[in-house]
This record gives sequence, C-alpha cells and structure tokens, in this order.
Amino acid sequence: MNDRIDSVEVLVSSPVRNYVTLRLRTADGLVGLGDATVNGRELAVASYLSDHVGPLLEGLDPGRIEDIWQYLYRGAYWRRGPITMAAIGAVDMALWDILGRRAGLPVYQLLGGRVRDHVPSYGHAFGWEIPQLLDAVDIHLARGARHIRVQSGVPGLDKVYGVSKDLDYEPAGRGARPPEERFDPEAYVRHAPKVLEAVREHAGPDVELLHDAHHRLTPTQAAQLGKALEPSRLFWLEDVTPAEDQEALRFVRQHTTTPLAIGEVFNTIWDCQYLIENRLIDYIRTAVVHAGGISHSRKIYALAEVHGVKAGPHGPSDVSPIAMAASIHMGASVHNWGVQEYMGYPEKVHDAFPHAWSYSDGVLQPGDAAGLGVELDEAVLSSEPYTTAYLPTARRLDGTVLDW
Ligand SMILES: [Mg+2]
Repeated sequence: MNDRIDSVEVLVSSPVRNYVTLRLRTADGLVGLGDATVNGRELAVASYLSDHVGPLLEGLDPGRIEDIWQYLYRGAYWRRGPITMAAIGAVDMALWDILGRRAGLPVYQLLGGRVRDHVPSYGHAFGWEIPQLLDAVDIHLARGARHIRVQSGVPGLDKVYGVSKDLDYEPAGRGARPPEERFDPEAYVRHAPKVLEAVREHAGPDVELLHDAHHRLTPTQAAQLGKALEPSRLFWLEDVTPAEDQEALRFVRQHTTTPLAIGEVFNTIWDCQYLIENRLIDYIRTAVVHAGGISHSRKIYALAEVHGVKAGPHGPSDVSPIAMAASIHMGASVHNWGVQEYMGYPEKVHDAFPHAWSYSDGVLQPGDAAGLGVELDEAVLSSEPYTTAYLPTARRLDGTVLDW
C-alpha cells in the first residue's frame, strides 16, 4: 500500500560546513530527505549508511516507520553511539518526510498538530570583551529575540570556543587535525558571573539569557558557577560538567537553583533516562539527528514530560536545515517544549537546502509544505568539495587535554 523503497543515496557535501544527507526514493516516485551529519566524523556515518543500512532498506515499505527504526536499532548486534544513531535518525526523518509528502501534510500535522503558535528559539551573541558582547545582544534584541545565549572571552586567554574576535564565526577548522586552544576553567568561573551580570543589567529583566560551559568544569566549579549566576537569573546553564558523569549533576543541583540543560552529545533515551527520572536537569538537549530521528526523539520528550523536563534541542550550523526542519515540526507539536537553539546558517546553506520553515523575530515556523518541507539544490550543495574539518581540542594551561 505504501509502495517500497527503491533507492538510497548518501550525499557528502560542503556548502561552507560539511553535511551528510540521505535521500530515499520510493518506486512510485516520492523522495524523502534525512540529515546524518556528525561533525568531524562525516565519512564514518556516510559509510555506515551506504555500506550497512542502505542495502537493508531497499524493497522495504516506507510506511513502516517504527518497524524500520526497531529493525535498524534492535535488529543489529551493535547499537547506540552517535554514528549508528545519526544513521538511524536520517532514515527516520526521510521516512516521515515521505509519509508527509504522500499524505500532502506537513509532518507536524502527522505528529498530532500544533500545540503552539510558534516555536521559540535562541541565537548566539558573543563578544570577546563585554562591550562587544552587549552590542551583539542589542542586535538580537532589535531582531525581536526573547532568548539569547551569551558567551565572552576570558582575560588571559587567546581563544575561547564559541567566541570570535571578529563578527564572523566558523566553529570548525579545516585541516587534517583539530585546531587547539588553551583554556583555564578557574579563570572562566571567576569571569563568567561578571559577564552575565553586565548583560542582565544591560538587557533588562524580560529577556531570557542562556550560557554554555561546554562540559569543562568539575562538579565543584559547576556548583560555584551556578550559585554565582543566580542573581543574573539564567533561563539555563548548559553543559556544566562532562555529560557521562551524570551523578555530578546531582551535586550541582543540590547547590544551585540555576536551571540546568545537558544532552547534546546523548544519542538514545537510555542516555537521558537517569537525568530525567531523577529530575537532575530542566532541559534535555538531544538533537533529532543525533538521537535516532523523530520517532526516538518523541519518546525522549514523552519521558521528559512525565518528569517536568522540557526539550531544548541542540541547533548549531552543523545540524543541517533538514534536521532543523524535523526539530521545528516537533517543536510545533510537542507540549513540553522549552526552546530550540538556532545558530543560523550562512546564505549558501539556505540556498543548498531550500526550506519551507522560517525564522523571524526570534521564533521559528515549520511552514505548511508537505513532509519536512526541505528540498536540495544539488548545484549549490556540491559546489565545494568535502574536506575534513574539526571542532577545536582544548587543553588546560599545563597542556593536559580538557573535556569537550
Ligand atoms: Mg553545548
């Protein structure tokens, strides 16, 4: 009844950033797109899809979305992890896309329809010095943003991840090895409260402020930072400690009322279960692309709903406009939604992935095109060759490697 999957293509491309895109076609001519990008490991997931998943999909009924998910997850001996889950996520997105196109309905409608008028989002404001950061915050406020993530430089350091001394910022560096930077967590913990205090003073009480510590603190440093930031009333403090040491967040939680968000490196509901069930976080940050697609993300959000935790998905520019579409469709239809990260994209990326979703005045809309509402402009998509690019590695001042 739902025809069969006829072809499976994996496109590795580099319109400014590297992307891995899955394109499924059905025998009756429908196309579904999925994002499988894992930054810095693009070719690993492309191989997983081409060599191990694609041959399994050909001939299957694309309407059996849940069954195909279970087949690729439970039916394989090796499971979990970012590569596997991004591959399954891409297949899942593409199947929902096909279902929507077949039905002539946007995916959010298939997920139960709208629960909100728009999907709240937050962008990135950064400045090496506080005055530059305040200027960047003003740009977001002028755009109508109600949620802003703020990051700054740290006195004594040359580089800080997520902060550029220029206006343009490209997180991944091209080359055979990751770029390196030195970081001093103690200096950062001393400086960050002054930065957030200045931003709160400047922006007033109404705007929601977010801040990311990139998993680089000890539990004690994280607790100290959370406490010191309480007067600045953050919307969330993100990734304070390495995400695999989940008990650490109980310690942080006991010492501060600053809301906590984590999970952009999680890939399954089982990675999230302990933190959600123990109410150790306020926001779960899994990205639809890295956590098994729409079908699995919905289960994570349902578990979170039971425990008073909200969704706050990861959304840097290496999450392609296809996965961003999938996330926005969920944001429109999932009740316990907090906010979608929306870093934005270079113009070329918008051109490579023409999309029905839109951003304006700090909020996102899924659009009403059938399916996920994203197409490919292959001429733009393939206009630059893929080359390796990596997020930087950080070391402490004494040279020891620091957590990502
Ligand atoms: Mg983060």
